[in-house]
Amino acid sequence: MAGSEQPAQPGTLYVVSTPIGNLRDIGLRALDVLRSVDSIAAEDTRVTQGLLAAYGITRPLTALHEHNEATVTPRLIARLQGGESLALVSDAGTPGISDPGAHLVRTARAAGVPVVPIPGPSAAATALSIAGIASPQWLFYGFLPAKAQARRQALQGLVALPFHLVFYEAPHRILHCVADLAAVLGPERELILARELTKRFEQVACLRLGEAQAWLSADADRQRGEFVLIVAGAGPADGAEPAAARQVLATLLEELPASQAARLAAKLTGRKRSELYRLALDLKPEAGDQP
Ligand code: SAM
Repeated sequence: MAGSEQPAQPGTLYVVSTPIGNLRDIGLRALDVLRSVDSIAAEDTRVTQGLLAAYGITRPLTALHEHNEATVTPRLIARLQGGESLALVSDAGTPGISDPGAHLVRTARAAGVPVVPIPGPSAAATALSIAGIASPQWLFYGFLPAKAQARRQALQGLVALPFHLVFYEAPHRILHCVADLAAVLGPERELILARELTKRFEQVACLRLGEAQAWLSADADRQRGEFVLIVAGAGPADGAEPAAARQVLATLLEELPASQAARLAAKLTGRKRSELYRLALDLKPEAGDQP
């Protein structure tokens, strides 16, 4: 009888983590799911094809990335609502962590589609596991802004935080990024630089922020590949007070030349004007003038 059919049970959306380098880091459950779903939504289908081929898996692939997710998501949701199962993967690591996925997951949940995580590697957790950080608190920031001014501004908001800070960075920005980290957070903080994790040229260096640029420049190979940077938070070692002075100074430097910013920051924080002027030049070399 027309209209008496039961609506189809929705299929499940599986959010599947994949390796960040070494293909053997895939989980058994991830393999089970990738083998059994009706189709796979992948950030870059060629990258995922390589992973599937390594495990002899052949499933239909749909591209889902930041540029098409608004148009592709409704079609995927319709298929899920029709009873098909779908796995979401990104190029590497865990979808939704500095990767596409959030839009599809939210839309699926709102549509009553079950969303099931299949956990596995993520570059941040991998780097933290070998960072040797005693403090249990850390803050995952992901990618800083690409443009210098926005990057410095973002870092200024982090200066006084007492937590380790975890950043992702791409090779073409790594030198500028560590220079800004040192200028804004101060050269003394400890940096764990984790490069090419789980890959052939994996490298982990423990440095001071002020040493990082020279370390990277000493060998062009050190600037290649993918990076996780873990930076110590503002702690008793560098003190909340200098961090606060740094923040005041950085704010003033947005409007004023270095000498004026240093003079006002000295009044506001009680720190030495000469020290603040030097810091102002570190933070914003182009703001230099005669003190
Ligand atoms: N979703 C991924 C995750 O769960 O880690 C992150 C994707 S994000 C687009 C890519 C960034 O993650 C890289 O630019 C790098 O900062 C970091 N990354 C990914 N693989 C890495 C690796 N093998 N070693 C170091 N960093 C890596």
